[in-house]
Amino acid sequence: MTYNCVVLVKQVPDTANITGQAMKDDGTVNRGALPAIFNPEDLNALEMALQVKDQHGGTVTVLTMGPPRAADILREALYRGADRVILLSDRKFAGSDTLATSYALKCAVENLDEYDLIFCGRQAIDGDTAQVGPQVAEKLGLPQVTYVESIQSLDGETIVVQRAFPLGQEVVQVTLPCLLTVVESANRPRPPSARRMMIYKRAATPLEYDALLKKWPDFGTSEALDDYLAERDQRIPAWTAADVDADETRLGIHGSPTKVLKIDAVVLETDESKAFPASPEGISALIQELTEDYIL
Ligand SMILES: Cc1cc2nc3c(=O)[nH]c(=O)nc-3n(C[C@H](O)[C@H](O)[C@H](O)COP(=O)(O)OP(=O)(O)OC[C@H]3O[C@@H](n4cnc5c(N)ncnc54)[C@H](O)[C@@H]3O)c2cc1C
Repeated sequence: MTYNCVVLVKQVPDTANITGQAMKDDGTVNRGALPAIFNPEDLNALEMALQVKDQHGGTVTVLTMGPPRAADILREALYRGADRVILLSDRKFAGSDTLATSYALKCAVENLDEYDLIFCGRQAIDGDTAQVGPQVAEKLGLPQVTYVESIQSLDGETIVVQRAFPLGQEVVQVTLPCLLTVVESANRPRPPSARRMMIYKRAATPLEYDALLKKWPDFGTSEALDDYLAERDQRIPAWTAADVDADETRLGIHGSPTKVLKIDAVVLETDESKAFPASPEGISALIQELTEDYIL
């Protein structure tokens, strides 16, 4: 039995490497000033899907909703082993909260061929809500398991997975198709393959053609470039809201009941400090204190 896997991935600002003016004057994140990366736990989700394919066969399709530059993480997914990647991009999605995001993703998943398993990261490092995966499952009417650390068995009709929490573990069995959200401790994502980078380095969505034609003027027209990429399996589809038959009233600002009333900059300060001696005993005392405070 082979499995068709779908992985939902998000391009996020690299919040661990803040450069320049990270926040705008209105208190929103200045995405342009931060390097954009593959959401870390989405790499774990992709790795888990690739391992299912390695062990059982099937396909891995990677889908992201985002602006045109989100195609960068789709190319990265191809370099790491994905069979097919799709960008969901439309101005109508702008301003979506998690409810509207998960609705758009649900429409895109329904637009795919048959699937057995949907993988998400547990949480995105920018929005940080961990709501999108469970909401997509709910909207598709699928069973879901969150915090998945490993797949213990997969028999065509059911999957047994282990969930990991800070204070314990749980083993859960669900029927397929289902949606899993994957935690960082699940695996070590494989690196991009040099061979696949050579194959897919020119893969592009039609939304990038204008920029590419400036780099490669010899193609002359978007149509010629499109034919060239399509013949070589390098054309990344870019789906709009209409392509996935989405109800526009459920997208973007209009489809987003969440309203941000106020944003406060939180500055973490400590009013007490403690010094530990640089000795084995001091390090043991430090580790014990951090463990007791659930920091480690
Ligand atoms: C009122 C409001 C307006 C907003 N406007 C904007 C805006 O204009 N621009 C903007 O960038 N953000 C905007 N956001 C943020 C946006 O809601 C979230 O970034 C988005 O819904 C994902 O939520 P999250 O980051 O908490 O993801 P989580 O729920 O933490 O993500 C969990 C997992 O879901 C999957 N996932 C999440 N998002 C995507 C995606 N886009 N594509 C594929 N898979 C995904 C990934 O597997 C991810 O690991 C807005 C939020 C609110 C509340």
